[in-house]
Amino acid sequence: MTVRHGPAGRFALRAQRLFDGERFIDSPVALIEDERITAVGADVPDDVTTHDLGAVTLLPGLVDCHQHLVFDGKGTLEEQVSGVSDADLRSRARASARRALLGGTTTLRDLGDRNYVTLDLRGDPEMPTIACAGPPITIVGGHCWYLGGEATPGDGMVTAVRERIERGCDTVKIMVTGGFLTPATPMWKSQFELEDIRTAVQEARAAGMTVAAHCHGLQGISDAIDAGVDTIEHCTFLDETMTPAPSTDLLERLAKSDTTVSATFGLTPNGAMPEAFERILSDIRSAFGEVHTRGGRVVLGSDAGIDEFKPHDVAHYSMGDFVAIGMSPVEALQALTIGGADTLKMPRKGRIVPGADADLLAVQGDPESNPADLSQVEQVWRAGRPVRESGPAFN
Ligand SMILES: [Zn+2]
Repeated sequence: MTVRHGPAGRFALRAQRLFDGERFIDSPVALIEDERITAVGADVPDDVTTHDLGAVTLLPGLVDCHQHLVFDGKGTLEEQVSGVSDADLRSRARASARRALLGGTTTLRDLGDRNYVTLDLRGDPEMPTIACAGPPITIVGGHCWYLGGEATPGDGMVTAVRERIERGCDTVKIMVTGGFLTPATPMWKSQFELEDIRTAVQEARAAGMTVAAHCHGLQGISDAIDAGVDTIEHCTFLDETMTPAPSTDLLERLAKSDTTVSATFGLTPNGAMPEAFERILSDIRSAFGEVHTRGGRVVLGSDAGIDEFKPHDVAHYSMGDFVAIGMSPVEALQALTIGGADTLKMPRKGRIVPGADADLLAVQGDPESNPADLSQVEQVWRAGRPVRESGPAFN
């Protein structure tokens, strides 16, 4: 079946199951008018054509809070961008975003490009909805310095955030601690102090932007919570011996704060994690499980793009990771939809309710009983229009 273009029009979709972002509803039908969902459940008027999708589950499009559209997974992060022109990085970012959309990720946040090349992708109906950070803020020679976001602590922080406001970014990304494969700063060690993070949060908030803090170390995580960042990326709780060692107090503070854990979940089925992470995975899973049990929020921040096993549509492979920290399948689906949308402060995303954007995902089977079914993507709708040539093209 071919995808028809033009106005989305007025139509209804019926599926075997419908997850609305919070729960599975009894009457699995949604009414779409142009770009929005206007009714869910039994309220479809008689004069509207209802397309039966058959044995599929209809869900809100997935939300991934951490991607890198300029990375292509080939070689080290530095090798992936060095020597590549801005124009080429921009077209690579377009292709990455398109792959995300075709795989069911209808909303994503880019947490690190070079020279603001991803900002032009916003507002294009062929793309997912994208929130952009521009280059991540790091210390001189610090983690991911080659993306161009070097800043000096103190006043340099104000300058850096204001530059992103002027450029029109949606969010600010700070490399609070060192990172994987950047020898300059050990992963566990802080690059910025509490005061610097506070300054960034104040400046960003005043401009209506959210703040994402990349943190591997315990001190960085504690400071990021105190500074009131919106999300902590990775959040691996590493001490000086590179072992996850969160205190109960830290887990409790995180759970009770407004700061969300953006978990680096998601891997293709044939993928393997770097050995350093494999070793600490079970500790991190139990820490995230604790945060969740204590009432904190854990969502997806896949870091898509950094590795060949993390393509930009990796979100649909990540559901099992949420179940593995102790979430029920429904909680895992919430994390991947409404949880991510609320984290990004996008109330029209991640839910199938009247007034929400008609960004939808249809998968074969039932992810509630088999999380792997989330990757059996049948069709994706963006603002009411189907995006896959192969799937049902009802509109
Ligand atoms: Zn990242």
